[in-house]
Amino acid sequence: MDITELTVHELQEKLKNKELTSYDITKAYVKRIEEKEKDVQAFVTELGNEALEKASEIDEERKSGEVGNFTGIPIGIKDNICTKGVKTTCSSKMLENFVSPYDATVVEKLNDEKMINLGKLNMDEFAMGGSTEYSYFKKTRNPWNLNRVPGGSSGGSAAAVAANMVPWALGSDTGGSIRQPASFCGVVGLKPTYGLVSRYGLVAFASSLDQIGPITKDVYDSAMLLNIIAGHDEKDTTSREMEKKDYTKALKNDVKGLKIGVPKEFFGEGINEEVKEKLEEAIKTYKELGAEIEEFSLDIAKYSLATYYIIACAEASSNLGRFDGIRYGYRAKEFKDLKDLYRKSRSEGFGPEVKRRIILGTYVLSSGYYDAYYKKAQQVRTLVMNEFDKAFKKYDVILTPTSPTVAFDIGSKSNNPLEMYLADICTVSVNIAGLPGISIPCGVDKSNMPIGMQLIGNKFQEETILNAAYTFEQKIKFRENYKPTFRKEEE
Ligand code: GLN
Repeated sequence: MDITELTVHELQEKLKNKELTSYDITKAYVKRIEEKEKDVQAFVTELGNEALEKASEIDEERKSGEVGNFTGIPIGIKDNICTKGVKTTCSSKMLENFVSPYDATVVEKLNDEKMINLGKLNMDEFAMGGSTEYSYFKKTRNPWNLNRVPGGSSGGSAAAVAANMVPWALGSDTGGSIRQPASFCGVVGLKPTYGLVSRYGLVAFASSLDQIGPITKDVYDSAMLLNIIAGHDEKDTTSREMEKKDYTKALKNDVKGLKIGVPKEFFGEGINEEVKEKLEEAIKTYKELGAEIEEFSLDIAKYSLATYYIIACAEASSNLGRFDGIRYGYRAKEFKDLKDLYRKSRSEGFGPEVKRRIILGTYVLSSGYYDAYYKKAQQVRTLVMNEFDKAFKKYDVILTPTSPTVAFDIGSKSNNPLEMYLADICTVSVNIAGLPGISIPCGVDKSNMPIGMQLIGNKFQEETILNAAYTFEQKIKFRENYKPTFRKEEE
């Protein structure tokens, strides 16, 4: 048995009936990381030794009595989620040596469960990007083809899960950063409803859009990890007070009568033919499973990308103001006066994409342009929300591709920001409207690259999309049929 092939719910079984210890599991992952990290480059910080130590302690505890369901289960964490005593770099030179003095709320929740942190995962700098190429440290590679990007910005998280280097991981999603890399790496990525998961301790990119969520091998694990991280937090005033749910209870393997709307705009120009084909097959599968499918128009979606990039950059320019070289983070070595210290620290500490966003954001918020750009974008945001509200009066779920293409070659878009932004066309509307969305694999293209399907739900209806995803997954059995090959094409 290859331990690292198992899902978390399978690991739990084996822990329960004493077939495996936490040490066995952690050791298997540490070994796997040793083997694969040189190819995949998913980690910014590896915590193998600490993890093994903790696993031994936990096994001792297990001997002496009852332990929780997640005790001793390892996990990987995106490097923009604060971990006390362990570096949180956001893959930026600015925070290269930053050690957070506190844990993010989600990390506290993992600690409460006595889970084991295997390490911090690579990402686009400050989560700005869609390929993980904008990391200051390294370029993560796609386990299905090492010449391709893993997607982004949570590319380290998705690649590590796909490569079996962690059993599951946390990512963050502002405009698609959980779903798109999940789609590129053939794993399951869930962006929860805005307000379901606390953002306390998530380094802010665009606060009105950011959410933390699970990246997992299958839908059951996704529901379990959501169970752990969801819930009100008084430290995040945008987190919603609501009763705790068990999302695994929603997984009924039945979609009879489920109303699925398919917005035709997401299948038009710019969507790769093979992606379209696989999505059409998926729609057929849902019909066979008893769902009711209807095409409709979500015309407003054509404005989503522009709206997203205005709002996200505006908020980023404000959020990143705190990195001034004074309180924490990178400080320039030589400077003339205070202004020069600010200027040099920020010029040297941030990479090009982050600077581009700060400049764009500052521009759209400037007094002369505020009405034309920022205010207009906020107005369009309301229209997008209204359109979704209307759609959810008719449908339970909205089905689209996660990305217009499969994972692209490393280097093919990184010098063309606009093209990189266009890759987010299918995911950004979900953040703008604050909705939950999940990406699950629905097949591979001719070159054996995974294709992702996105299921969007109404606010706080995670159960509906999880069940729809689960039912499809049980039917097509993607993980049993396709595996990453770590192939490397000659360059
Ligand atoms: N690719 C998008 C961007 O660059 C989304 C990023 C994200 O979700 N963090 O903004």
